[in-house]
Amino acid sequence: MQRGTRLIHHRLSMDAATGGVSVPIHQSVVFAQESLDQPGEYEYTRSGNPTRRALEEAIAELEGGNYGFAFASGMAAITAALSLFSSGDHLLVSRDIYGGTYRALAEVFPRFGLEVTFVDTTNLETVAAQIRPSTKGLYLETPSNPLMKITDLARAAALAREHGLITIADNTFMTPYLQRPLELGIDIVVHSATKYLGGHSDCLAGLAVTRDAGLARELTLLQNTLGTVLAPHECWLILRGIKTLKVRLLQQQRTATVLAEWLRKHPQVKAVYYPGLEGHPGRETHFRQADGGGGVLSFRLATPELARQVINNVRLPVIGSSLGAVESIISLPATMSHGSLPGELKRELGITPDLVRLSVGLEEAEDLQADLEQALDSPRGHR
Ligand SMILES: *Cc1c(COP(=O)(O)O)cnc(C)c1O
Repeated sequence: MQRGTRLIHHRLSMDAATGGVSVPIHQSVVFAQESLDQPGEYEYTRSGNPTRRALEEAIAELEGGNYGFAFASGMAAITAALSLFSSGDHLLVSRDIYGGTYRALAEVFPRFGLEVTFVDTTNLETVAAQIRPSTKGLYLETPSNPLMKITDLARAAALAREHGLITIADNTFMTPYLQRPLELGIDIVVHSATKYLGGHSDCLAGLAVTRDAGLARELTLLQNTLGTVLAPHECWLILRGIKTLKVRLLQQQRTATVLAEWLRKHPQVKAVYYPGLEGHPGRETHFRQADGGGGVLSFRLATPELARQVINNVRLPVIGSSLGAVESIISLPATMSHGSLPGELKRELGITPDLVRLSVGLEEAEDLQADLEQALDSPRGHR
């Protein structure tokens, strides 16, 4: 089956009991046992729920994995994956990752004795040089957020395997429709399903997938123990979102390409970061491991004032920290999604106040372009 078909048809996409084409929302916490000695498939919703199971099966099939896990948010999925490690373990982590993941790794996990080094994973020699005897994991995001830096997933996975490291990749930006890290040797994929998979800015959710039975056992224990599971109704919303992932994402990608090419020629735009653009660093690697550039782009303006002006003056994109939704969302990563990074690191990475991130929605490309044009060209007007 082609991937677009799989979005609609997976093993649990219909209700086996009734033939309902939409999975029922099993709004029940307790599942009664037949008798004391006959526990059923489900007992208690924290440890398992049929609606959640359907979503977990869907994401496992889409990512080419065997075991899926649904969590209350992307951060809950990431927290569970990071909880695989123990005190004294050392982790290597991509430098420009999602701000919340950075915060977890810089401020929370070190309290429990996890050691973390942030590295430029676009350069695997640098990564190899940082591996110590205590290094146990490699955490990646590609394309990175917000500068769309590309890490070679297959090579990173091979390097990690040589040293016995568990690899985790955040696949939120690409979704399994465009990129499947498990097929390239990555051990665990995590998602903020809040973004493209849900797609409508109305549901916070996270997912994790693996092929490995041992890791799946650990993740099952963590999901049940941390208790950060996704509620049945939210599972249903993500299942519904997944059905339209292809049409949304391909349309958003088409518009993102048009806008990226147009922005690149604009005299007030210093740089455009979009993997779909000719000349984007790592573009060849990206297209070896992914089937498109996605729907998010960032661009650097001539001055920070102009970046503020553009964000304040656009009429269609909403100002917000999220992405992957039907509505376009514009943000200033330096103070919004990446506000929790130390100032020095932000400067070093280029996440400065002249950088704007745009998550392209389903509005017409002409309207978005005209809107950006008026926002760039109206020197004084402020919303
Ligand atoms: C939003 C996001 C997260 C966090 O997900 P939540 O659902 O907000 O908890 C993690 N990684 C990436 C790349 C994200 O964009």
